[in-house]
Amino acid sequence: MAGLSLLCYKCHSSTSSKQAYRFARLNRCALATSTTAEPALDEVSEGRASSEKHPQLQLKRDGAGKVEKLTITTPLFYANGSPHIGSAYPAIASDVLARYAKLHGAEVHYVTGMDEHGEKIAQTAATNNKTPQEMVDSIAEEFQELWSLLDVEANHFARTTPDRHKAIVREMWQRCLDNGDIYKKDYTGHYCVGCEAYLDKDEMLEGNICKIHQKPTILRTEENYFFRLSKYWDDIREHIEKNPDFILPTSRRSQILIWLEDDNKRDFSISRASTSWGIPVPGDDSQVVYVWFDALLGYLSSLLQPDDPATLDAVLSRGWPAEVHVIGKDIMRFHAIYWPAMLMSAGLPLPKHICTHGFLTKDGLKMGKSLGNVVEPVPLVQSFGPDAVRFFFAGCLAFGEDGDFSYETFIKRVNSSLANELGNLVHRILTLSRKNLEEACSPNDLATGSLDNHPVRLASLRAPAEVARHYEQLDIPKAMLAVFELVGVGNLRMTQVEPWAKLKKNSSEEDKKEALCELLMMAEGARICAVLLSPVTPQLSRKILDEFGLGAEGDLAWSQTSWSWEVIPGLAAGPKPTPVFQRIDLEPWKGK
Ligand SMILES: [Zn+2]
Repeated sequence: MAGLSLLCYKCHSSTSSKQAYRFARLNRCALATSTTAEPALDEVSEGRASSEKHPQLQLKRDGAGKVEKLTITTPLFYANGSPHIGSAYPAIASDVLARYAKLHGAEVHYVTGMDEHGEKIAQTAATNNKTPQEMVDSIAEEFQELWSLLDVEANHFARTTPDRHKAIVREMWQRCLDNGDIYKKDYTGHYCVGCEAYLDKDEMLEGNICKIHQKPTILRTEENYFFRLSKYWDDIREHIEKNPDFILPTSRRSQILIWLEDDNKRDFSISRASTSWGIPVPGDDSQVVYVWFDALLGYLSSLLQPDDPATLDAVLSRGWPAEVHVIGKDIMRFHAIYWPAMLMSAGLPLPKHICTHGFLTKDGLKMGKSLGNVVEPVPLVQSFGPDAVRFFFAGCLAFGEDGDFSYETFIKRVNSSLANELGNLVHRILTLSRKNLEEACSPNDLATGSLDNHPVRLASLRAPAEVARHYEQLDIPKAMLAVFELVGVGNLRMTQVEPWAKLKKNSSEEDKKEALCELLMMAEGARICAVLLSPVTPQLSRKILDEFGLGAEGDLAWSQTSWSWEVIPGLAAGPKPTPVFQRIDLEPWKGK
């Protein structure tokens, strides 16, 4: 079987993989899989349960267990082209966790941004008759526009060209130098401009061709500055061994531990003489700081507030260390080995978790310009709205594994969950209650007995803890499963009780009261679903709460996922409701 090609987040090019088993996972949607379904293939092969694969993230909590602080980062995207769906994906997932933490009232630092230096950017800019700065400035605008379209609320946009960032890089360099961790030596190696890196044997095909870029590497000799990675080798391995949740999903740990075998022990080059588009090495203008040494520090410099001094110490009071770095699996080595070593050298705390996501394919194939099947995020969100896109990428693709996009799967999943299950439930509740309920009241006002053990109430009491647990495992599809289990209980109750049959003109008063009471119970369940879903589908959640007459209550809070007997004003006599989620017509998208 031919290898499956995957999209590289950094350069839009593909890499081949002969792991044919992945085909079995294509089109696999976590939401379509019940909790009792067969585990994914890699769960079988590793014999891991899901909770072990997605352990609870270590988030800072207050005494009551509420999340107190979250610093979460996406990769800093390489600024040599417009944002693509591979950039949108981690940004959406990170935004879900950030919004979840905000529901708890947490102090959230959500960092996304760009990696703006390096030879490849200088080359691309030259090809487009722009200066590198002009090019990265215009790409920064494109990213900001995409985040705004996607309702991604990142509050820090990291850039590596501002002076403040450069000051942080120089201070880091100095700290490492003072610690005896930087030295100069001649280096000869096979350099790939696409990767901006010297490649190891296992990263090249025969003839010294880069496996990722399928292009010949250049044999280069440079006198470079090196970072004494070897000095931290054992400490990093020990850290990973002692903290099994440092690299997530846990299945990726073994790859890192293989890299950390003693045979591979080496230092790494942290300067380049071959380009001038970068930050000059302190005290040596003939070289610039290597893009990775430079870019990783964007996680720190972007945390600074405008009036802060541009120092590493200042960063410590602004949210560092990060709880979560969300990254693509292609940049694991930099984040799991190089970055912790740099931080150790500089005496700075390490991030808590490095969460890797898989690559995206389209209809089971690599995305690429040559195939003409690249999914562009801006038209996607303009056609379908942010909630649909967020729900599919965060809620339907198993994080950590490769995921496939096809218009058909996307539209079917979104229609099925958001329009048919949740949308219809809300619409039926509103239509029936507004037509028949004269004055808003609590279900208790209509009940003849206790409602404590009503199935919708019991399911609503169970759901929040379950949903929270999965959000905090960054297992968003499982969180969605738990929400839609509650939606399902509401829908089941609707078909069992058939309130419309008891709300006919000639129905008895008792029947009418009972039917309305049932609708109010279902509405409370749906209200809770809206809050639980709000990290993923913020606009839909707002729309539901607006229709319920609960819109003007400021920021949502996790406490609103508790069962309440309060009156839901929007259920009483009023205009016919508009659908909270418009079904997407699949027809025009078939075969696209
Ligand atoms: Zn390459």
